[in-house]
Amino acid sequence: MGYEFLSSVLKTIRRGIELGGFPEELYDRLSKPERILHVTIPVKMDNGKTMFFEGYRVQHSSALGPYKGGIRFHEEVDVYTDVALATLMTIKNSLAGIPYGGGKGAVKVNPKRLSQSELERLSRGYIRAIAPLIGEKTDIPAPDVGTTPQIMAWMVDEYIKIKGVNEAGVITAKPVELWGNPVRNYSTGYGCYVCAREIAKEIFGGLKGLRISVQGFGNVGMYAAYYCAKDGAKIVAASDSSGTVYDPEGLNIDKLMKIKNETGKVINYEGAKIIEDTKAPLYVDADIQIPCALENQITMENVKKVTGKAIVEGANGPTTPEAEEYLTKKGVIVVPDFLANAGGVIMSYLEWVENLQWYIWGEEETKEKLEKIMVSNFHRVYNKYKELKDKKPNISMRDVAMIVALERIYNTMKIRGWL
Ligand code: NAD
Repeated sequence: MGYEFLSSVLKTIRRGIELGGFPEELYDRLSKPERILHVTIPVKMDNGKTMFFEGYRVQHSSALGPYKGGIRFHEEVDVYTDVALATLMTIKNSLAGIPYGGGKGAVKVNPKRLSQSELERLSRGYIRAIAPLIGEKTDIPAPDVGTTPQIMAWMVDEYIKIKGVNEAGVITAKPVELWGNPVRNYSTGYGCYVCAREIAKEIFGGLKGLRISVQGFGNVGMYAAYYCAKDGAKIVAASDSSGTVYDPEGLNIDKLMKIKNETGKVINYEGAKIIEDTKAPLYVDADIQIPCALENQITMENVKKVTGKAIVEGANGPTTPEAEEYLTKKGVIVVPDFLANAGGVIMSYLEWVENLQWYIWGEEETKEKLEKIMVSNFHRVYNKYKELKDKKPNISMRDVAMIVALERIYNTMKIRGWL
């Protein structure tokens, strides 16, 4: 499974290298990580027995700065998955314009099967195992699937004990009580909103009165919808794994968030039509659709039912390459995941800058900085997209984003004398 994932990541990079006219040696460099650390973590379980967990830290590229990428706790990860994820981080961080290379860590475990104390021992054990390779100026982990701010707190605490130095910036997305920043909780959704707003300005003249639908009303989807609604858009549909709520006149976003947070299900919202299909937000009449649930939601099987003029990818990989080709030919613009959902990693960068200086910005000031970086990244890609589209009508925004990301890596590698 991980091997197929890695092959498809490498195919995307290969396409970017060809479209952008970069030399083969750039592909050769990016198709292999700089370093892979493979570790075994012994954990004393609550029943007194010791179990051994397999883990990795992949350092893919340091061309642009310290390695940066999350730690995944999942029972199906393998080293190929981790290399693929680390490679994607190199591309994402380059596009985000932040001074980071790409890395990713993983432990093969289902965290839901562990007690809190077992989880704490595993988290601390993993950091002890990778401590020789990480540091606030070398490699900076963060959460990913299966890991949380609490886990980050245990990890940074363990690292500080090992080093005997308060290196707060070694891990990001920490709790607010431990050198974290309150914007982190909604930064990815906020970044999606910024992309939706900017694409709306380009296509429709602005967000005001536009119909927006959101598939996956979780952390990312909820805040993307909230900020779009506060800016005058109508959220006509929202779904989670329980089903879809639909109101062509617009849902009350504050009420919907309250219901979701209190009951865990959007279908408990009263006064709107309930649709069983969790993909319905992609099919109802809307101007912009924001998929924020899972990968592979828009495929050749359902792409003809998708109604929006623009898709802003909050989730990772919601549109398959074939479906995207179909949409591009139809004139629909897909704002790609590694641009639209970069708010989280950009916020990590801001937290890291705060930690390095031992200086704390207020919530509004942090949000302004995040906003500025997202807007500038969006337009860097969109302007180049407009320019290239005249020459290559079937080029997508994803193709262009990949070219922009590769260009920065290529120029830096060249100036460093690596190529
Ligand atoms: P989350 O668990 O908070 O929310 C996911 C939501 O999707 C839940 O409400 C769930 O009920 C719903 N869902 C699950 N299956 C569904 C389906 N088939 N149809 C409709 N809804 C469904 O997760 P999240 O943090 O919001 O992440 C969502 C996506 O965004 C993932 O692809 C993740 O990798 C990506 N992402 C998240 C962040 C972040 O900072 N949280 C950053 C970058 C990318």
